[in-house]
Amino acid sequence: MTHKPLLIALDGPVSAGKSSLADAVARRLNILHLDTGAMYRAIGLAALQQGIDPADEQAVSNLVESGRVEVDVRFADGHQQTLLNGSPVDDLIRSQQVGSAASTVSRYGPVRRYLVARQQAIARQQSMIIDGRDIGTVVLPGARAKVFLTASPEVRARRRYEQIRGTDPAATYEAVLSELIQRDRQDRERPLDPLRQAEDAVLLDTTGFSFDQSVEAILRIVEAAYGQAR
Ligand code: C5P
Repeated sequence: MTHKPLLIALDGPVSAGKSSLADAVARRLNILHLDTGAMYRAIGLAALQQGIDPADEQAVSNLVESGRVEVDVRFADGHQQTLLNGSPVDDLIRSQQVGSAASTVSRYGPVRRYLVARQQAIARQQSMIIDGRDIGTVVLPGARAKVFLTASPEVRARRRYEQIRGTDPAATYEAVLSELIQRDRQDRERPLDPLRQAEDAVLLDTTGFSFDQSVEAILRIVEAAYGQAR
């Protein structure tokens, strides 16, 4: 029996839980999870490492177009490693500073064209769940299963705050909430590939859901799209 590759697009705003939910769904279905935000973070990191202001569109665009940055991923034991010019950078890309650089550089055409093409090439090779902002609309408009994940800003900020308070004692819930609202606006209002729900995506609001309930809800959407055959 041959299986068609399974492609699941999971989009949504910052801290909607995309990455951890995608990990859990990938484990349940025995497929890979591609975290596209990590690829934008790698470009943000490259700019910072090279002393380039992320707000300098020309300089960041030159960096990408000149071929001086190469972003790739590889999967070891089912886990994504994000590579910048061949070196793993996963430990370097999770800071607020790199997140904010990623959000800025993700507005630039050359950055998006480069990464969207990389993501499409990766997704051609295997079954995966891909999380991002523009997966259902731009990267994989033909994906059969599309989920647009959301939750109230307060619930997302609370979850994010609980995650980071251990490592960042200076963090406050109010600061996390206001940064999240600002990042949402940036992602929704940018002219290129803004965050929006694809017409054929299923909206999943996890505001009142536990983590496990959210996983089950995504699995049901995937089953409805692909059938129970797998
Ligand atoms: O999801 P994460 O916070 O890691 O993404 C980092 C930044 O990359 C986001 O702020 C978002 O602006 C950008 N991004 C994007 N398109 C994607 C994934 C992430 O523009 N597919």
